[in-house]
Amino acid sequence: MDLGLKGKTALVCAASKGLGKGCAVSLAREGVEVTILARGVEALEATAAEIRAAGGTVTTLACDITTPEGREKALAACPAPDILVTNAGGPPPGDFRQWGEAEWLSALKANMLTPIELIKATIDPMIQRRFGRIINITSGAVKMPIDVLGLSNGARTGLTGFCAGLARQVAQHGVTINGLLPGPFATDRLRTNTKLAADKSGKDFDDVWNQRMMQNPSRRFGTIEEFGDACAFLASAQAGFITGQNLLMDGGHYPGTL
Ligand code: NAP
Repeated sequence: MDLGLKGKTALVCAASKGLGKGCAVSLAREGVEVTILARGVEALEATAAEIRAAGGTVTTLACDITTPEGREKALAACPAPDILVTNAGGPPPGDFRQWGEAEWLSALKANMLTPIELIKATIDPMIQRRFGRIINITSGAVKMPIDVLGLSNGARTGLTGFCAGLARQVAQHGVTINGLLPGPFATDRLRTNTKLAADKSGKDFDDVWNQRMMQNPSRRFGTIEEFGDACAFLASAQAGFITGQNLLMDGGHYPGTL
């Protein structure tokens, strides 16, 4: 299926690795000119090389997207993208009794306010062009909170609520806003969180990793390619009537009927 994305532009945040990378690779394969960013240069350039080797067009930008300076750089490099994929690192696990204002502000900045600032800066040109796709990488925790990830549960639900309202205001202009909610995907983030859990319980990393995998109805973790292709579909011409939605990708982990 031709997704109707050839020649479109995308700003894909936090995309040198993991889920953001999956989105950038899939969009580039569909003919989107992608601008990818992350803090570390090495992985960023390696991902760009992969995209170019596959025939894609990519610009790289080393910045911390959770800072005003980082966002300024990102928007200078890609001021009016047709597609915005928001993403950043997730907050650390812990007990809410240990978190003060600094921890909350850090999570809110990364996982709620940064996406909102980026949306604010890019949505009006999308409205004028009568085409825009905003895809927020959030978490399955928006639908089913994860006890040790209270910072993530709180910040991402705030973003989701804000976007639920905004999506209805801009739908008439051909702009859609949707959330992509990852369950467990085999990325560095999942490895780090699994290692923390293994260390805390005194168990072997591989045992915890495999146990988590076997607890999923699909008996595996998701791949970044699957995630990226879902992102490309939400960005597609065909997905123009899908907005204000939150697509859970978790291998069936969420147990509800709806
Ligand atoms: P990952 O594999 O660790 O990749 C994170 C990417 O984001 C890297 O490219 C990293 O590069 C970049 N990044 C992190 N902080 C950044 C910042 N401040 N500015 C710019 N780039 C930044 O993580 P992932 O698994 O893809 O996770 C992506 C998001 O999805 C996270 O918020 C995570 O919490 C959430 N999530 C993941 C899962 C999962 O199972 N993987 C499940 C639920 C939710 P640099 O470090 O070089 O900046």
